[in-house]
Amino acid sequence: MQATVQHWCNGTFFEGTSSATAPVTNPATGQVTGQVALGSAADAQAVIDAAAAAFPAWRDASLAKRTQVLFRFRELLNERKGELAEIITSEHGKVVSDALGEVGRGQEVVEFACGIPHLLKGGFTENASTKVDVYSIRQPLGPVAIISPFNFPAMVPMWFFPVAIAAGNTVVLKPSEKDPSASLWLAALWKEAGLPDGVFNVLQGDKTVVDELLTNPKIKSVSFVGSTPIAQYVYATGTAAGKRVQALGGAKNHAVILPDADLDLAADAMVNAGFGSAGERCMAISACVAVGPIADDLVAKITERTVGLKTGDGTKDSDMGPLVTKAHRDKVASYIDAGEADGAKVVVDGRNVVADGGADGFWLGPTLLDNVTPAMSVYTDEIFGPVLSVLRVETYDEALELINTNPYGNGTAIFTNDGGAARRFQNEVEVGMVGINVPIPVPMAYYSFGGWKASLFGDSHAHGMDGVNFFTRQKAITSRWLDPSHGGIDLGFPGNK
Ligand code: NAD
Repeated sequence: MQATVQHWCNGTFFEGTSSATAPVTNPATGQVTGQVALGSAADAQAVIDAAAAAFPAWRDASLAKRTQVLFRFRELLNERKGELAEIITSEHGKVVSDALGEVGRGQEVVEFACGIPHLLKGGFTENASTKVDVYSIRQPLGPVAIISPFNFPAMVPMWFFPVAIAAGNTVVLKPSEKDPSASLWLAALWKEAGLPDGVFNVLQGDKTVVDELLTNPKIKSVSFVGSTPIAQYVYATGTAAGKRVQALGGAKNHAVILPDADLDLAADAMVNAGFGSAGERCMAISACVAVGPIADDLVAKITERTVGLKTGDGTKDSDMGPLVTKAHRDKVASYIDAGEADGAKVVVDGRNVVADGGADGFWLGPTLLDNVTPAMSVYTDEIFGPVLSVLRVETYDEALELINTNPYGNGTAIFTNDGGAARRFQNEVEVGMVGINVPIPVPMAYYSFGGWKASLFGDSHAHGMDGVNFFTRQKAITSRWLDPSHGGIDLGFPGNK
């Protein structure tokens, strides 16, 4: 019998009362490997209640105690991250080295959160008025919800929960139904690290449990990452219920290659950023904008590198794994069909790839399309697969215009050897994260991650100081203490006369 991936509540597995489940597959074999519980509203309430019950004691735990748990969690994660990477590969499909990379980026946020005593320090003004001092403190919000997408089952939750927990909140994590097991491994690790029961909980499910998280009054904030339509829904519903919400959405990331760029560097970058993790990254480059006369050379260099990529099982020696589900694989392939029908040139065709993996795996090889125009669906839509489109423009201004009129604004990159051109781009481009000769400019944990426009709804980006601000509320205190000479204590004590 296949195992059911359950919830995690109050420091242990929780079956819940709902009998609904969804299949979990190994994308490299196409085999169903288990079922994930789809919680009911009552199951969600039970998990939320556990997080609410654990909050007062965790809020009042000393910073020394909280940071000890965080340091221990960091050490355990560092020692055992190989186990987590294997779980990620078995349900998501990405190659193990990529899964390890994802865990490493999450670990950086844990390390950032280990410095929480410094980050929580408030301000103090002595003698704002006579004998009056004013100071500010940061307090946790309460139970907070994190709702994550399939493409980073460990890293995306770790953008949020280390900071949330360090700041004294309790957490309900709702992972993607497609790869739910990483969250339980992380929950067990927290327990081993000494986190009190109920501080970190996992709620498995779909829209039913998401809706409970968005409306239940005990949940004080929602951190969501996923597609733009759901991000908009989560933002509208959560804020209408009075919650603080940060909802990160989809992306269409452009790289601009100027005529003076190092074309070998740019071609390497396009292959890594376009096809790494099978293009299932919110920071993947899907639109390569070649400016001026370099387009033919650039396409030739990208082609040369793309045809050498090995698609196969992520546990083998592959460059690129399968897509997450058969339905997603077929949808991405249909965009290649549409692009071809619309007149794009299919330079490298991944539709008939021979992969080193199971016959029923969800395979689609890296695909390079040239002469893509802005009206084609392969350009207008977020495809979220290994499809790189080359658009040819004559000038920098045309390239900038393409990016700034695109509804998304997550990441972008420029390749050039001219510092002045790069500087102008960083100033003019309407995108939240910018790379200069760096294709995937994911900020370090002590900066904040987040896009603009339809790529993020809300005011706060993830981690860095935005994360600390999001997971705390500030309180300003004004106090007046009169001098003891006004009838207070006798400062001459102890009076052992
Ligand atoms: P998704 O929107 O389908 O799902 C995200 C989460 O929302 C999952 O936990 C899912 O169970 C839940 N959900 C799905 N439908 C829902 C509904 N109708 N009501 C309530 N909840 C619902 O996204 P996905 O396919 O898992 O992930 C891929 C998407 O995430 C891409 O669009 C990608 O760009 C985006 N993403 C964005 C970032 C970012 O930083 N901006 C990072 C990673 C992924």
